Amino acid sequence: MGVIKIKGLVIKEVPYNDSDKMLTLITEEHGKISVLARNAKKSGRSSYGTQVLTYGEYVIFKGRTSYIMNNCDVLKNFYNLAADLTRFAHAAHMLDMAEDAAQDNTSSKEILNLLIHGLVALQKGRTPLLVSSAFALKLMQITGYPPHVKSCASCNTGDIEQIFFSFKYNGFICKNCAKQDSEAVRVDIGTAKGIMYVLCAQNGRVFNFELSDEVLKTFSGIAFKYISQHLDKSYKKLDILNEL
Ligand SMILES: [Zn+2]
Repeated sequence: MGVIKIKGLVIKEVPYNDSDKMLTLITEEHGKISVLARNAKKSGRSSYGTQVLTYGEYVIFKGRTSYIMNNCDVLKNFYNLAADLTRFAHAAHMLDMAEDAAQDNTSSKEILNLLIHGLVALQKGRTPLLVSSAFALKLMQITGYPPHVKSCASCNTGDIEQIFFSFKYNGFICKNCAKQDSEAVRVDIGTAKGIMYVLCAQNGRVFNFELSDEVLKTFSGIAFKYISQHLDKSYKKLDILNEL
């Protein structure tokens, strides 16, 4: 069985057997994969590159039940995010969402790219809530679920004076249609612009904008509810921040 070389980010590590670790990687070409790292629970050379938040080039081969790591080169790591609980919680939330969204190989290269740019934005000190919520929205677009923002997602009118966001129709709806949608959220112009900006931006620019605290509250509320609904999951990694 041949050996392959892949680039990927470690999004999860769990203890396996006495001394091994099972890693989950999001890779450029092979989607989300499990890789067994032998002796990686020990510190030293055999654990190199097996930590969550490592981006590296991994040499792996196919074993009976999973891939097995042969060796790796660390290209970049984001370990220093762990020094700040808020940043780390948002990074963990992003890894969770990426893991759930990466269901096939088709979008894994884009998801990996988005993750790396998002983690870089966190490292650069951008507002963590802005980074993780913009990430959630862009992730939905990449995996085929962009919210409809060009007209009313229900009646299709382009003449929307007051914008609402509908989780039933997956996008902006007009005031009239919002009367029949009790869960629709009123969207201020700042939030609407933020949503459209993220959908249009590429690479690191996805995270390169500012919102006031008030607008960010609405923006992140919509982005997180939207992704939770599509991936059918309630995410818990940010809960720890409410307990502080
Ligand atoms: Zn309408």
